[in-house]
Amino acid sequence: MYRVFVGGLKHESNSFSSLITSIKDFAILSPSEVLEKEYSTYLRNTGFEVVSTIVAYAPPAGLVEKHAYLELKERILQDLEKAKKLDGVYLDLHGAMEVKDLGSGELDLVKSIREIVGYDIPISASFDLHGNIPAELVEELDILVAYRTAPHVDAEETRLKAVSLLAKQIKKKVNTSRAIVKPPMLLPGEYFVTLFEPASSIMKLLPEIDSKPEIVVSSLFVGCAWTDAPYSTPSAVIVASENNYEKALLEAKRLAQEVWRKRKKYRLDVEAGEPEEIVDKALQSIKKPVVISDSGDNVTAGGGGDVPLMLDILLRKNASKVLVAGLFDIESFKKCREAGEGSKVELVLGGKIDKIYGYPLEVEAKVMKTTEEEVLIRVKKVDVIVSSKRKPYISLEDYAPLKIDPKNYNIVVVKLGYLFSDIRKLAAVAYMALTPGFTYLKIEELPYSKVKRPIYPLDKDFEWTP
Ligand SMILES: [Zn+2]
Repeated sequence: MYRVFVGGLKHESNSFSSLITSIKDFAILSPSEVLEKEYSTYLRNTGFEVVSTIVAYAPPAGLVEKHAYLELKERILQDLEKAKKLDGVYLDLHGAMEVKDLGSGELDLVKSIREIVGYDIPISASFDLHGNIPAELVEELDILVAYRTAPHVDAEETRLKAVSLLAKQIKKKVNTSRAIVKPPMLLPGEYFVTLFEPASSIMKLLPEIDSKPEIVVSSLFVGCAWTDAPYSTPSAVIVASENNYEKALLEAKRLAQEVWRKRKKYRLDVEAGEPEEIVDKALQSIKKPVVISDSGDNVTAGGGGDVPLMLDILLRKNASKVLVAGLFDIESFKKCREAGEGSKVELVLGGKIDKIYGYPLEVEAKVMKTTEEEVLIRVKKVDVIVSSKRKPYISLEDYAPLKIDPKNYNIVVVKLGYLFSDIRKLAAVAYMALTPGFTYLKIEELPYSKVKRPIYPLDKDFEWTP
């Protein structure tokens, strides 16, 4: 029976965040839990023996601490060495894991795995759409498959595709040829929501490419613009059957060219503007509720989650029936919990994690509700969820512990970029405030030093052909 080794290590690392990702930030699935994953079941059901290691994942934040990465890698490599004779390896990766003083975590991990298993067995990996793929990674892997949706709704499907292609390759004993082409540009994910143009028609090219006989699978990586690294660009990655490198390269060039050609067409899917201006628009809106993305402090992309700017503006403008969801502040959370529901407290909100774009905001608040992990406070006529975790309020479920119905507010501010389906549906109107923070959408304002120049839009006057 063929034996396949499965495991993973995932992180989206934001170079501009001072919130370094340490070992305690990782949730780790044990090898026996990994055996229960859908891809393990799929492999077993198709006649493979599955040997597993951990899958470690941490939410998007700053670079990964070197010793944290090395500790997790060591656990994976130890299990791999114990696994002995193998016919293939599947890895569940993100693609934008950047390790401090080391660089691409995915590249280092895959190279170390190759040192143990050699080049005679295939390695397949699945990735997030926002992976920044170093060209060398495509040499080390036999199969690469990325999500095709943003917001991501095809993660499980993508993992299954990666293992089913691996299974085929093992059984048929064939090799692949891979090509990667990287257009020199930075494309924040907010500009590439696959429900809308031009992203949706670019993504439609992938099934077309896949249908060609020489092609195994195609992927378009948008990349993570907030990872400051020489390989941070979108990537067109084409896996073709053995001896079809020329065909893979041709398709990769065409796909990359298309992404580049549309560079001036990528737009946010909702109206965006300076924070003050967006608050004014929200206050004047007849349709309610208005949902505002505090996009520079987007915790799903590594934002600190504690820049109080939007709250500050709303208070200055005397806004009422507003919910700010949420603000990450352990100190203020504890103070409110200790004071208890109904109490009045003086708080200094924010500015503790993001000290670059954030600042302390002094407020007098009334504690409305408390739970184990978060509290709801009222400052003047604005309600604020103060959380002990850097939690994104993505779906209605996230509001459930405090029994909040966001529908009852005129304005809801979320620390997100693009909206996920629940909140998208809830919003009568949605705006994006171009707030400063670790996930600043005005990327020209960020202190890049490692990306390869010239790069669009930091540099505008240059031509590129693949
Ligand atoms: Zn992503």
